[in-house]
Amino acid sequence: MSRAIVLGAGVLGASAAYHLALAGAEVTVLEAGGPASGTSSATFSIDVTHLKTPRSYYELNRLSAEEHIVLAEELGAPSWRHPMPLIQWGHTAREQQIIRDRAVRLRSWGHPCRFAEPTELNELAPTVDAAACAAEELVVHDRSAWYDAPLFVRSLLDRAALMGADIRYGLRVTGMIRSGDRIVGVESGSRRWEADWVVNCAGPDADRIARHAGVSLPLKQIPGLVGESTPVPEAGLSAIVAAPDVDLRPAPGSRICSISWSVDAMLSSGPASGADLRLEEKLHRLGQEVLPALRTARLAGARLGVRPVPADGLPLIGTTPQAEGLYHLVTHSGVNLAPVLGRLAVQEMISDQPDSRLAPYRPGRDMPAQVQDESLQVMSDQPSLAGN
Ligand SMILES: Cc1cc2nc3c(=O)[nH]c(=O)nc-3n(C[C@H](O)[C@H](O)[C@H](O)COP(=O)(O)OP(=O)(O)OC[C@H]3O[C@@H](n4cnc5c(N)ncnc54)[C@H](O)[C@@H]3O)c2cc1C
Repeated sequence: MSRAIVLGAGVLGASAAYHLALAGAEVTVLEAGGPASGTSSATFSIDVTHLKTPRSYYELNRLSAEEHIVLAEELGAPSWRHPMPLIQWGHTAREQQIIRDRAVRLRSWGHPCRFAEPTELNELAPTVDAAACAAEELVVHDRSAWYDAPLFVRSLLDRAALMGADIRYGLRVTGMIRSGDRIVGVESGSRRWEADWVVNCAGPDADRIARHAGVSLPLKQIPGLVGESTPVPEAGLSAIVAAPDVDLRPAPGSRICSISWSVDAMLSSGPASGADLRLEEKLHRLGQEVLPALRTARLAGARLGVRPVPADGLPLIGTTPQAEGLYHLVTHSGVNLAPVLGRLAVQEMISDQPDSRLAPYRPGRDMPAQVQDESLQVMSDQPSLAGN
């Protein structure tokens, strides 16, 4: 293989471009906006390995979280990866039981997590209001991390460009070029690019792209509101906090990033609802209840992200017989998974040999009615914005 077009410059496109350039391919990245202008800049972007099922998908996430460490060393400072513990607790006995059961299962899989007294909250995250935690037990994931996803994208693309990748922004792909059963390039208006592989990394728009090649991807688009506070250095948050109603983590510039399932559950009527000030205020208020320092801060911005969620919750990786040459690289939890998926996908394209670790994720598989990744079951009950 010598030429590849990567469609989309989010985390997955950036990882694919980096690994393709590293393998000596002639790479062109085509992106409608700028670097990380899609979901990869409107994401909570933490290491979500602990939430993943079934076991094989957990292992894939764990491997990728480890590959973030290796990649960050390879690419050098500044690093997008911020290691810190993640602390979790529930409100009700049932929530607490779910968190405990998950931790027991994770420990049986060799995952580094432990049970802790609530008093440890004061050591791990002293600025969190202890009164916000009525639980009798915490679960602590000592080796967690959050990722600065836009910086991750820029680091990968800058390195790919140094290795010769041609990266073009402001170019929307509008069609595919076909030769028999094979896709051999893309069109953007009247312009054409030909290649041995076209890699579909269009995130929530991946199905729209696939349809240009006569392929349909079973993909839901599930919205989420991500808040970012004004700078609040006194928050001094030294852990990712997964409280019952809100998750909080540090963000660049001494800010605090927040997300809440109870808020996301109200985002039912499409992107316009993302501008709903009441929801933004609710998100900020939930954060203030857990982290009192936020009471002196405002919400500087709230971005509506769109999660690309395959119907069974697992990634869509590989090509299809109707459109060989078009390789799909689409997943939720893509920030955590980008290192390993980009690497394995490129190995498959270059060697023309399937990798058994990607076998459960082929786009043409039979989709079970049940969502396989249990952390997505609550989400997948949400209405799809795309209606597909
Ligand atoms: C609220 C929320 C919270 C999340 N939390 C986490 C988390 O904690 N951990 C985690 O790992 N993941 C998380 N995710 C998921 C993760 O952010 C996504 O899986 C990931 O960002 C998807 O990256 P991507 O590269 O596939 O898509 P994107 O970042 O959307 O990139 C796709 C790119 O394709 C471009 N594009 C689309 N159509 C065209 C076209 N026709 N021509 C040219 N370019 C095109 C778009 O402009 C875009 O830049 C979260 C997502 C959301 C929304």
